[in-house]
Amino acid sequence: MSTGFHAIRTLDKVPVSELKGVGAVLAGKLQRIGIYSIQDLLLHLPTRYMDRTRITPIGGLQPNAHYVIEGSVRASDIVIGKRRSLVVRLQDDTGTTTLRFYHFNKAQKERFAPGARLRVFGETRRGSAGLEFYHPEYESADTRNTAELEASLTPVYPATDGLSQSRLRQLSSQALQWLNHHTLQELIPEPLRDRLQQSAMADAIRFLHHPPASANLQQLADGEHPFQQRLAFEELLAHHLSLLLLRREAQAIAAPRFNESAALVNQFLQQLGFSLTAAQQRVCQEISQDLASPLPMLRLVQGDVGSGKTVVAAMAALAAAASGQQTAIMAPTEILAEQHRNNFSRWLEPLGISVAWLTGKLKVAERRQQLAAITSGEAAVVVGTHALFQADVEFARLGLVIIDEQHRFGVNQRLSLRQKGANGDYNPHQLIMTATPIPRTLAMSAYADLDCSIIDELPPGRTPVTTVVISQLRRADVIERVRLACNQGRQAYWVCTLIEESETLEAQAAEATAEMLAGLLAPLRVGLLHGRLKADEKEQIMAAFKAGELDLLVATTVIEVGVDVPNASLMIIENPERLGLAQLHQLRGRVGRGTAASHCVLLYSDPLSAQGKARLNVMRESNDGFVIAEQDLQLRGAGEVLGTRQTGEMQFRIANLQRDAHLLTGVKQCALVLMSEYPEICAAIVARWIGQNQHYLQV
Ligand code: ADP
Ligand code: MG
Repeated sequence: MSTGFHAIRTLDKVPVSELKGVGAVLAGKLQRIGIYSIQDLLLHLPTRYMDRTRITPIGGLQPNAHYVIEGSVRASDIVIGKRRSLVVRLQDDTGTTTLRFYHFNKAQKERFAPGARLRVFGETRRGSAGLEFYHPEYESADTRNTAELEASLTPVYPATDGLSQSRLRQLSSQALQWLNHHTLQELIPEPLRDRLQQSAMADAIRFLHHPPASANLQQLADGEHPFQQRLAFEELLAHHLSLLLLRREAQAIAAPRFNESAALVNQFLQQLGFSLTAAQQRVCQEISQDLASPLPMLRLVQGDVGSGKTVVAAMAALAAAASGQQTAIMAPTEILAEQHRNNFSRWLEPLGISVAWLTGKLKVAERRQQLAAITSGEAAVVVGTHALFQADVEFARLGLVIIDEQHRFGVNQRLSLRQKGANGDYNPHQLIMTATPIPRTLAMSAYADLDCSIIDELPPGRTPVTTVVISQLRRADVIERVRLACNQGRQAYWVCTLIEESETLEAQAAEATAEMLAGLLAPLRVGLLHGRLKADEKEQIMAAFKAGELDLLVATTVIEVGVDVPNASLMIIENPERLGLAQLHQLRGRVGRGTAASHCVLLYSDPLSAQGKARLNVMRESNDGFVIAEQDLQLRGAGEVLGTRQTGEMQFRIANLQRDAHLLTGVKQCALVLMSEYPEICAAIVARWIGQNQHYLQV
């Protein structure tokens, strides 16, 4: 069957249907988990291994581990407890253990006749009668011809509907046979592999499907075996390359070059009322260099809450307007969009630059009016929520897209916006701003398609927020503290959090808290802000709080981004243990915006885990977003730090950003070499690892 034609095909080109026993039904099941080719099957790696290579004496069993044991049945009884079960006592020279079956039939019961010799495989659990095996696999060991023990560790593949472990094992064994006669492309060129001390792909694959009995099980369980690391490396490389390729694609079409107007810039800076920090100036400079080039800008600005990113964005919009180009600024929430609209109007309209406004909640007539201004080009700057990128929004000359608080948007969303912004001959420049500091290693992989600027300095005159960690048991004291601050003319936030991502439940909790606090704190004026309110209601409440007409604002985490009220100097966060550190840091950034000393009270629920305590202590000890992000990464892992929205789209088969962070420097170097010296390989690596899943690659 191995014809010459087959022999030259690489395994990424051989469909699984060429394996024995794979018909349309099975092929369909495999496709559902992304397996089309034999290469895909080979990359479907075990998540763990079981050791069936040796028999363990019963006396040496430990709880919660897999074992092969052999012994003879001493007794078997049907026990009527909470549930009826068949209990078999098995004994060898070293001890006795229990096998327990909740589902059994008569024939089974008979096989467990006293004296029968059994070989059993399963996992130990602590049960009522000491260590027990629940529903273990077993076979008779009576005869001389008991099956041989396994020669290699037994792979356990990711559980999949309708595909049993034995089927998957049988398929991967067949695939390994193919590997002996066909080529699995080695995609990392040898000179690079040598330099990185990485083994050959095929060796890694062979080993990982059938590790020898001598393999280090613990290392394998931790994903730290050199062969696992070899694959993790290539997978990270694939993700990195996919972003670099997207970047290249985004830059294949030119952007308009902006010519800054020195006169406008001077006018803008003069009316600001403050001077830019050195960090703001540096980042503005980096942006203006990008904007003067026909290569579309793809730049991420990271700056801690309050570092003044908005004014940097406004400077970029100014450059666009000076060149007759439009700017779209997208914010993640209505409240933030509203605030940007106010700032941009205040800063830009006196310079003759008109600002339009588009959110999902505009009335029909107003929406039509704003759309007309956008389409005619009369509006030079358009501020809005994601409504900005709906199909019926047509820009006259969109030259710059600014996305604020990017952490609220996922990678896919970022990429799709990039496509929507394209307008035929030109691609707009892109500026992405985030207050979520991302540890350098993570930024390197999650934002490989972007250049990075950091505003690492706060405007002068800010007093750092003092953070205290207090138990809910002292809630009454905390309420008194709020009263005191408000009586002194200060304002405060009280933030309610919930575990569920349900706006309704969160709103209800905030409502109840607001009612309770209004009662306790009368005659202080208490306002309520949550995601279920109408846009104009939110606006009214924010405006009232800003104007000092409310003393205390009870809110859900919707106030996380944007809200800027310098007179607010106290924030209480209920159940802070439920939130990520980055989010807590964002929330806390709402205070400490004025000159008064500010405080943040983290009001946690008892009991708090050791890890929970450690995390809240990080908040108490640091006001630096980057330090907090690094700590969060250590304590919680990459998935949590980047946020589910982003990692949901960064699904790895074998790599783990946290565990494998040490690989990223090599990944980055390797990617650059491949892009310049081996361009034809890049797409193959991406196809191997991301392939069908990366729908956003198919523009
Ligand atoms: P963020 O980076 O969190 O988006 P903002 O752009 O909202 O921060 O700025 C926070 C506050 O600091 C705003 O009130 C803004 O006007 C003010 N601000 C920005 N830059 C400076 C500066 N260089 N000097 C003084 N105040 C500034
Ligand atoms: Mg901001």
